[in-house]
Amino acid sequence: MENNVFEKLKKQLPEIQKGVLLKNYTTYRIGGPAKYFFAVKNKEDLISAMKLAKKFKLPVFILGGGSNLLVSDKGFSGLVVKINISDLNLKGNKAFAGAGVNLTKLAYTLAENGLSGFEWSAGIPGTIGGAIHGNAHAFGTKTSDLVESIEAVDLKTLKLKKFTNAQCQFSLKNSIFKKNKNLVIVSAVLKLKKEPAEQVKKNIKEFLEHRREKHPMNFPSAGSTFVNPSSVPAWYLIKKAGLSGKRIGNAQISEKHCNFIVNLQNAKAKDVLALINLAKKKVKKDFGILLEPEIQLVGF
Ligand SMILES: Cc1cc2nc3c(=O)[nH]c(=O)nc-3n(C[C@H](O)[C@H](O)[C@H](O)COP(=O)(O)OP(=O)(O)OC[C@H]3O[C@@H](n4cnc5c(N)ncnc54)[C@H](O)[C@@H]3O)c2cc1C
Repeated sequence: MENNVFEKLKKQLPEIQKGVLLKNYTTYRIGGPAKYFFAVKNKEDLISAMKLAKKFKLPVFILGGGSNLLVSDKGFSGLVVKINISDLNLKGNKAFAGAGVNLTKLAYTLAENGLSGFEWSAGIPGTIGGAIHGNAHAFGTKTSDLVESIEAVDLKTLKLKKFTNAQCQFSLKNSIFKKNKNLVIVSAVLKLKKEPAEQVKKNIKEFLEHRREKHPMNFPSAGSTFVNPSSVPAWYLIKKAGLSGKRIGNAQISEKHCNFIVNLQNAKAKDVLALINLAKKKVKKDFGILLEPEIQLVGF
């Protein structure tokens, strides 16, 4: 029966694969197999894949750079669609970016062209689609500060929709695309500032130095585990709760930055999840603050 479905999918999407290990597509290097896996290079591919998912009633997960995810050891029992729409064009002080454009590549391309705005995103192994979804930010700039408009496919109607910045409903680490799983970002128009290329590159260098100094870059991770509460940074609460360096299996709360949980070597998703739950419980007990995970859980 399952082979039958795969053969039918393959007829329409010859490049679809099955049993692809998601650990090879996440920065955590953790995650079991995707039942089906398909990489899309343009919006037409995306719409075709979505039509089939609907037809065969397959749950869908949209994958960007996999840098904000904890994928279960069991994997994902449905269709994973990897967004590889990566065209990038510049005109005046605007960039027209496919959702799969890598954030580090974006920062450097803009710098080369004397465009400032995304220096903070150099060193982040995600895509612009993922950054819009979770309104990624660093060093005082938010993705939402730089978005003019978005084009997304609505999986319910399989039609393209345009969103102005206001219609994206951006807030702290959130957007309409996070609230409504039926919206898949295809491309973005980004508004930037003209600045001498040398200055933009200097900004990137300073931010990268800060990352190297403060973040545990020597082990796989998915960046910050929790959203910072408004009153106090999450790392401070976790440290004060006595959890710095706490290890479960091969997952560890980083001593260098307590809001990072790192994969020391072949860590299991269940071990990372156990640390997430422990940090939530202990911080709630000690300080009465409920930490909200920033990392998205997949397949649990
Ligand atoms: C070393 C490191 C440093 C980091 N530093 C920062 C930082 O400074 N600031 C920060 O905010 N984050 C940071 N992160 C977290 C993460 O990289 C960002 O949140 C990034 O924007 C996620 O993008 P992604 O493409 O990897 O998304 P993924 O992890 O692939 O997906 C995240 C979520 O977005 C959804 N999604 C992805 N693409 C689309 C799309 N096209 N349409 C609809 N939904 C989509 C997915 O379904 C999922 O729910 C860091 C991570 C690492 C590993």
